[in-house]
Amino acid sequence: MSFEKRYVIAVDIGTTSTKTLVVGRDGTVFASHAVEYPLFTPEPGAAEQNPDEIFAAVIRSIRESVRKAGLSASQILCVSFSSAMHSIIAVDRNGHPLTPCIVWADNRSARYADILKRDGKQIYMDTGTPIHPMSPLLKLMWLKDERPDIAHKANKYIGIKEFVFAKLFGRFVVDYSIASASGLFNLRRLDWDERALAAAGITREMLSEPVPPTYRLEGLDPQHAADMGLSIDTPFVAGGSDGVLANLGVDAVGKGVYAVTIGTSGAVRGVVRSPVADPQGRLFCYALTEDYWVVGGPINNGGIMFRWARDQLATLEAEQARSRGLDPYDYLTEMAAGVSPGSEGLVFLPLLAGERAPFWNANARGVFFGLSLNHEKRHMVRSVLEGVVYRIHSVMSALEEFAGKAVEIRASGGFARSPLWRQMMADVLGTKVAVPDTIESSCLGAAFIGFYAMGEASGLHEVSGWVRTGSEHVPDERNNRIYGELLQIYNRVYHRLKDEFDEIAAFQQKYGRGSE
Ligand code: ADP
Repeated sequence: MSFEKRYVIAVDIGTTSTKTLVVGRDGTVFASHAVEYPLFTPEPGAAEQNPDEIFAAVIRSIRESVRKAGLSASQILCVSFSSAMHSIIAVDRNGHPLTPCIVWADNRSARYADILKRDGKQIYMDTGTPIHPMSPLLKLMWLKDERPDIAHKANKYIGIKEFVFAKLFGRFVVDYSIASASGLFNLRRLDWDERALAAAGITREMLSEPVPPTYRLEGLDPQHAADMGLSIDTPFVAGGSDGVLANLGVDAVGKGVYAVTIGTSGAVRGVVRSPVADPQGRLFCYALTEDYWVVGGPINNGGIMFRWARDQLATLEAEQARSRGLDPYDYLTEMAAGVSPGSEGLVFLPLLAGERAPFWNANARGVFFGLSLNHEKRHMVRSVLEGVVYRIHSVMSALEEFAGKAVEIRASGGFARSPLWRQMMADVLGTKVAVPDTIESSCLGAAFIGFYAMGEASGLHEVSGWVRTGSEHVPDERNNRIYGELLQIYNRVYHRLKDEFDEIAAFQQKYGRGSE
């Protein structure tokens, strides 16, 4: 191995783990390491993590990946970062945390969405972050009201990546995309938004300094540098959020190329060259650089719907699969493949966990519509898979209004393991679906930003040389027509049930059935 500085260490601070890759100039991954940590729910609606534990995981995952790749510090060009969006930690004057890291899934600020109704729309139009409890803006409102003792002592409010940088460099900086997802950052000016700051009741001094993703931090704390196997001169690159970097990592950067991820939850995202604000509030828009923004929508009910069907509807079949040494998902997918597209008129609204984009209705609930005596379990399983793709279709329709017609989908997440599910997506959306061979797309996106920041790439388009696609699915015209008819029914059923969703959610709350 030569001693040129040729490798970027890419770190993705996620909700379940921190993953680190060692990446070469052509996108080759030489080593990886992940360190997990828990999520705490000390009270209903809470979702918290220990920031010191995450910091330790970052240090360890960097050290281990450097060791596994057999690199010396002199071979490392830089360390570049991705992290989950929407986290918030109150810190005191010395940067010590006064709260745990409150993550996106924390719902305790839900009622502030209503309180913000008057100013909320303008704030959304200016910041691109939906007015939703995931947003740090609402979390700050909650904290000020319900934890006044902490708010009183807080010197700054920062996200998890800023916390890590502060410990390593003694500085508070935040990249544009993480800032963008805070609900406090003006998308056009790329600076903190006065109206949002006023709504949160804080000043800009209480937030970090916004910097582009290519911003470099230098002057690493010597002890931490030694712990990671790095030199004190190794630059750290600010990078971005996992959502926007995932688009880079699957090369969904060009016009009409959209990234669709369906893991436990799901998301659709596209890259645009100017900020988008949807007057109907259906989409998010986050800045990536001064020239690129990522627009899209998240869904709660992604692969978790298939898991629910496996565990609740098809328990017996899942058991049979396991006893034969088969993956229950593969077995159930095979069952579903025996049913024709459209599940013989059975439509599933997969809204069991409430829903985010495009209609942001936490009270929405699941519906099987059209059940008749000829429907069997395999129809129900197929309709669950189809229903998840209908959800993607709803988000995609809103997205196409702003970002242009889809010409290609880049599919990732657990669902992409299933050829049937991928073909279904091509048929429902009427768009080619390709599967990039990327494993950790956000991490790979961070690695690319690292090379770009160090002057080793001329623009984001160059990422295309890093990503190869495997299987491709072309829409079947007949199936596309069938799904087109069902989608109209699906959409009408959804809109007609608006009041009933509220009523049943209220009933469930009253009689003890949890919601999201
Ligand atoms: P996470 O979002 O937690 O990282 P994954 O991306 O691994 O999770 O996605 C998990 C989901 O992927 C499961 O809930 C399931 O819906 C789906 N999935 C996993 N394996 C398969 C498979 N073989 N066929 C179809 N779907 C699958």
